[in-house]
Amino acid sequence: MEKKACKTLHPQSMCPAFGGLRVLTRIDGVQVCLLADQGCLYGLTFVSHFYAARKSIISPELMNVQISGGTMVDDLRRTIEEIAQDPSVRFIPVVSTCVAETAGIAEELLPRKVGNAEVLLVRLPAFQIRTHPEAKDVAVATLLKRFAGFDRPKRAKSIVILGEIFPVDAMTIGGILQKIGVESVITLPGTALEDYIEAGQAEACAVLHPFYEKTVSLLEEKGIKIVKGNPIGANATVQWIRRIGEALNLDPVTVQAVAEEEGQKARDVLAQFKHLKGKVIVAGYEGNELPVVRLLLEAGLDVPYASTSIARMVLGEEDHNVLSMLGTEIRYRKYLEEDMQAVLDYEPDLVIGTTSLDSFAKERGIPAIYYTNNISARPLFFAAGAATVLGMISGLLGKKEVFQKMKEYFVG
Ligand code: SF4
Repeated sequence: MEKKACKTLHPQSMCPAFGGLRVLTRIDGVQVCLLADQGCLYGLTFVSHFYAARKSIISPELMNVQISGGTMVDDLRRTIEEIAQDPSVRFIPVVSTCVAETAGIAEELLPRKVGNAEVLLVRLPAFQIRTHPEAKDVAVATLLKRFAGFDRPKRAKSIVILGEIFPVDAMTIGGILQKIGVESVITLPGTALEDYIEAGQAEACAVLHPFYEKTVSLLEEKGIKIVKGNPIGANATVQWIRRIGEALNLDPVTVQAVAEEEGQKARDVLAQFKHLKGKVIVAGYEGNELPVVRLLLEAGLDVPYASTSIARMVLGEEDHNVLSMLGTEIRYRKYLEEDMQAVLDYEPDLVIGTTSLDSFAKERGIPAIYYTNNISARPLFFAAGAATVLGMISGLLGKKEVFQKMKEYFVG
């Protein structure tokens, strides 16, 4: 392979609009109306079914005939009215995508409400929103801007937890926040439109993933305090609980006791894995890779290279600094070719990567797993999360010989 990474404009991840559809299709009583050409519709229907909420999306026919014939807006309005005839539909997000005519559609041309259903334009053009995590941010910010009750009085000791997480993590977070005296927790992106309305009354928002920039700037503007970081690993767990306590003015003695207790549990887990040795490369496109790397480094593993699809963001600066200080080379807006080069340069014992990178690593006899299916589909927070992730990695690090044998078998 050539040493220089390819920087041509070929697709490096799935269509960004998918991230927005994941947020939107999961809301109860929703029916997405997609304003895109037939190619987008085909792909996005597929991913909405299989990777979002198993719901179809509806779209007015949009081919050259409709675009050049000037009937696009009338066709769209007619489609919205047809959708609204179903009394179970409460919300119709109109999603515009890359097609220039749809990306630039004026919001004023759409109704705000038809029958029972609220109608809201959500713009998700890939030429502007580069990745699916960033599209989640755009969708959440658009929903909050329209629905959140920012003008209602704030509720004391209430918090929004922002970021898609594994359901067990959400339960663990809820339990620990209750112990320190938090009285109301809303998790976004959520399934209830009411959660978006009530989020406007929260006192603080804990942002678990760094790509929620637009949402965070909206919440800050509306006087909601922002808590950065996440409870991944022992040090960050202690820090995160303390930060929530400070943001919500909770009893400092209780907060400190719970922070110490949870921190100790996580330290105990790390101690169980102190035998772990090995070089791991982490290369996902979910936007939440760096805290995972931080956990691996805290456990004593060597992570010489990590990459993500998102840009370097203010909310991720703490992780960026820790990882850089500990010697991890970080690539933002990465290309697959850069990840492949890293595999060649660093010769890791394990790759936690994208499907294409994993095939590349396995062909070389290196154990490799898919980041999304393995990291995003299991608990990650507090002691339980550390135990699950490190347990999985411990098993995989012991498999290098098996992968080598497999490679030799197939080569032979
Ligand atoms: S919305 Fe853009 S990136 Fe997505 S499928 Fe359509 S053209 Fe491709």
